[in-house]
Amino acid sequence: MQNLRQNTRKNRILVKFSGEALSGKNIFGIEIDILRYIAEEIKLLVDNDIEVCIVIGGGNIIRGVSAAEGGIIRRTSGDYMGMLATVINAVAMQEALEHFGVDVRVQSAIEIQEICETYIYRRAIRHIQKGRVVIFAAGTGNPFFTTDTAATLRAIEINADVILKATKVDGVYNKDPNKFDDAIRLDKLSYDQALKDNIKVMDDTAIALAKDNNLPIIVCNMFKPRNLLDIIKYQKGVYSIVKN
Ligand code: UDP
Repeated sequence: MQNLRQNTRKNRILVKFSGEALSGKNIFGIEIDILRYIAEEIKLLVDNDIEVCIVIGGGNIIRGVSAAEGGIIRRTSGDYMGMLATVINAVAMQEALEHFGVDVRVQSAIEIQEICETYIYRRAIRHIQKGRVVIFAAGTGNPFFTTDTAATLRAIEINADVILKATKVDGVYNKDPNKFDDAIRLDKLSYDQALKDNIKVMDDTAIALAKDNNLPIIVCNMFKPRNLLDIIKYQKGVYSIVKN
């Protein structure tokens, strides 16, 4: 089979940010300073010859489950609203990256061609090979999934070496370290352990997909400057990794 990576030795990674990360201190919307910070971190990766794809959640705008809570909006519609929210975030991130001179394309799993390209696997690969950052928007395009699953799916499709789950903490803990002082960081974790012990590195569908395809998941702190680069280029600061 033709090697679509053309034997590139470059690191190819997918970074997953939650939508909540974009809202910063607020509970809703997009904080420009955060957008700027993330764009600069991504630019560092690109400048160091790392091939980067991004998935951003939509939780800073709306989530299907919460939208459906009032009993008016059905879950499926709520999920489509959530997917649209991820498109808003992706377009914002595209602007921020372009502001810093990074070549970038948004590809949506749902066709919205006035706003961005539609996800086409081979086209995504060509963008990556040309050194562009590709932001995958609208999740998987299906309700009842999450952007963690979308990120895992796309990472596998584009043959990424690793998925970086960028969070507010530096790794996976047995309980929320922001709430519990006695939370213990789990340094190396198998997929089975994460599933069995219900450790929510990502949702179970995403972890199962990563397991089936041997995709390592590194959980890292996105708010530590240069952390993404240190992890990928220098293998520094990898505290929690989920793999076999
Ligand atoms: N969503 C969906 N299918 C997908 C991805 C996302 O239906 O493949 C919807 C779902 O309602 C979800 C919302 O989009 O709650 C936003 O995504 P997510 O909750 O994963 O965002 P995050 O928590 O990462 O900000």
